[in-house]
Amino acid sequence: MTTLKQQISKVQSGEISSESLVQSALDRIGAAQHLKAYLSILPEYALEKARDLDKRRNAGEKLGPLAGTPIAVKDNIVISSGKTTCASRILENFESPYDAAVVERLIAAGAIPVGKTNLDEFAMGSTSETSAFGAPINPIDPTIIPGGSSGGSAVAVASGTVPLSLGSDTGGSIRQPAACCGIVGMKPTYGRVSRYGLVAYASSLDQIGPFARTVEDSALLLNTLCGHDLRDNTSSTQVVPDFTAKIGEGLKGKTIGIPKECFGEGLDKEVEATVRAALAACEREGAKIVEVTLPSLKYAVATYYVIATAEASANLARYDGVRYTIRTPAPKNLYELYAKTRSEGFGPEVKKRILLGTYVLSSGFYDAYYMQAQKVRRVITDDYAKAFTLCDVVAMPTLPAPPSKVGEVFQDPMAMYLQDIYTVAVNLAGLPGLSLPVGKAGGLPAGLQLIGRPFEETELFQISAGVEKLVAM
Ligand code: GLN
Repeated sequence: MTTLKQQISKVQSGEISSESLVQSALDRIGAAQHLKAYLSILPEYALEKARDLDKRRNAGEKLGPLAGTPIAVKDNIVISSGKTTCASRILENFESPYDAAVVERLIAAGAIPVGKTNLDEFAMGSTSETSAFGAPINPIDPTIIPGGSSGGSAVAVASGTVPLSLGSDTGGSIRQPAACCGIVGMKPTYGRVSRYGLVAYASSLDQIGPFARTVEDSALLLNTLCGHDLRDNTSSTQVVPDFTAKIGEGLKGKTIGIPKECFGEGLDKEVEATVRAALAACEREGAKIVEVTLPSLKYAVATYYVIATAEASANLARYDGVRYTIRTPAPKNLYELYAKTRSEGFGPEVKKRILLGTYVLSSGFYDAYYMQAQKVRRVITDDYAKAFTLCDVVAMPTLPAPPSKVGEVFQDPMAMYLQDIYTVAVNLAGLPGLSLPVGKAGGLPAGLQLIGRPFEETELFQISAGVEKLVAM
């Protein structure tokens, strides 16, 4: 099978055209419509971009590192063509006048956005079932969830419509769907990728990152996304290395930390066995396995749901029927314009979170909830920093159980929030995290999550690729 890298060099050398690649991606998307991975498709836009690339190549121009690669973009990242809905009724007609920073970068690298992918409404959820337009379907097994909130982006890659896609991860939304769909999903260090043009959910936690079939493809895509951006004031000025540089260097001399809190109560036995088998294979390959401790992990879900909802309540205040959004017909006064537009436009999960976030920020409760959560966030960050004095990466399952049945956890909000136990702390601490498939549990895909030190993505990709090689054997 041709690898993505080989395909890109064939486009660069003129052996295959970008147009033919885009056309076949569009054909595959058409044939896979029943999976509801895409909320909109951009055929004219994508074909025009492809023809332009082919023309430039024929004129002797050297094409970028993702030349001719069709890519799917989560529908909370704006593109100046078509709609950006965030899978919400309130934004169902919204058209962005500009491109997100990552979209500018993709285009400069020669990648071609072919469509916008389905998600939980405003990225709030872990199953993609809060989408106002119907949930995407897991191509591995239609009776199980594809994970969320970037479920459409994961399905787009897992079903083979595109080799790459973009998701956003506030508390696990790239890593969880990657685990459910058996592919690689990666959340970079906070600040690594510009959030300019990502519709904000919880700004201190949100990061954009890649979905791909392999660790190397994921690193190739991340290479093109990073770099300082003045339009996002949390964008990092750190040097951007070649994230593929150490892929192939293996696991020898690397130390993998296993937090004892992650392998006890609440973890499905089959998931545990699959993850432990992958780690045992790493040890045989020369990695050192050490036990570490993250005592504050048990507070992570509660802390996350205070901070994320507080930030969401502020960020979503802008959808008021005056700009961007649908507007309720014939309101009697300004108050009714706001109230009715928001009541009609937002779905139940989003409303719940706005209420919760407003509550934890309200006077009298601010210190008890919001301030307290900020303090625990610091403790969680410190716990990780201590763990990294003993190891190069921390390893744990991505999800505590195999992907659930469609509709199962969605009916039970506590169960849904608890699914986030292994992923949210990584966002609270701003660390890079990657989920890769390591086998099956109960016949369904199981993901191993590897977490790196801040801005050490190159090492995270090296170790992940080392594990990937072992589980593929
Ligand atoms: N499941 C988490 C939430 O609902 C994370 C979502 C995300 O990362 N966007 O908030």
